[in-house]
Amino acid sequence: MIDLRSDTVTRPSPGMLEAMMHASVGDDVFGEDETINRLEARVADTFGMEAGLFCPSGTMTNQIAIKCHTQPGDEIICDQLSHIYQYEGGGIGFNAGCSVKLLNGDRGRITASMVAQAINNPSDVHKAYTSLVSLENTANRGGGACYDFAEFHNIKQVCQEHKLKLHLDGARIFNAVVANQEQPAAYGEVFDSISVCLSKGLGTPVGSVLAGNKDFIRKARRIRKIFGGGMRQAGYLAAAGIYALDNNIERLEEDHRYAQQLGEALVKKDFTGEMLPVETNIVIFEVKGRFTPKELVATLQENGILSIAIAGTQVRLVTHLDISKEMIEEVIQVIERL
Ligand SMILES: *Cc1c(COP(=O)(O)O)cnc(C)c1O
Repeated sequence: MIDLRSDTVTRPSPGMLEAMMHASVGDDVFGEDETINRLEARVADTFGMEAGLFCPSGTMTNQIAIKCHTQPGDEIICDQLSHIYQYEGGGIGFNAGCSVKLLNGDRGRITASMVAQAINNPSDVHKAYTSLVSLENTANRGGGACYDFAEFHNIKQVCQEHKLKLHLDGARIFNAVVANQEQPAAYGEVFDSISVCLSKGLGTPVGSVLAGNKDFIRKARRIRKIFGGGMRQAGYLAAAGIYALDNNIERLEEDHRYAQQLGEALVKKDFTGEMLPVETNIVIFEVKGRFTPKELVATLQENGILSIAIAGTQVRLVTHLDISKEMIEEVIQVIERL
């Protein structure tokens, strides 16, 4: 099967497994796992932040950040398609006791003026206190759409004027960095916290890192323990992350090129409706006419290709580390035959 359902389906490569086998580990709750310490420092440094925190999942890094930046009863501003709202089990309410103001952005991306208009007047006692803005780059449900970096600065300015914290769900931040040739350290100048997934395009079996300043990470470490995310000799997992940072970033370009090629093959088909612009490794398109989305997914599956029907009308394909040039050629042949 050629699995294009998600970039989370990758298996660790022999080189990665080798690096994991040789990790030097300790009890990380005591702060004694040198491989985890190295990974945390490395990610923080990469993004121009003071400190990092290794966690089991991107949901946990996002939820810890939200909990740290807010008080119960506060309101969070984000796009309606955000992972933190759509796919984290209602964690904003469950973990942080906050409400959400959802904005209708462009492919998962919101603007500074939208943020400015969504902030509640803090002296109006009727209103929830707005304390956090959360952005996503790339935007998953926006088809891997990327922010223009200048808009980050605009949003940061609004946040500073209104004393709001600014979080980035950077599950696929390296896809954006590679696609737009950004300096990763520039992110640290804009965001109060960044969540980075190692288990998506970077191809590790487990793990995300939360980055921020020292005080924030000290607090986040406490919240991680409360959420049950304090791990022990998890340096074996962190070693996979370090290996991924060394080996699997530049190659993301390949994933992006393959996604482009899939998109180009699909737009020629009469069953393809509107397709979101393919900016990184995600292809999302509407299915019409001869197939329903479910039927198209089933037909692809009969031809050895796994995809996902999302949101009733759309199908999603995601390229990743375990998808080769030959596989893409095969998928394109199948698409052409349909
Ligand atoms: C995958 C993902 C996450 C985190 O997911 P986990 O499965 O909990 O690691 C967060 N945000 C976005 C945009 C994602 O795609």
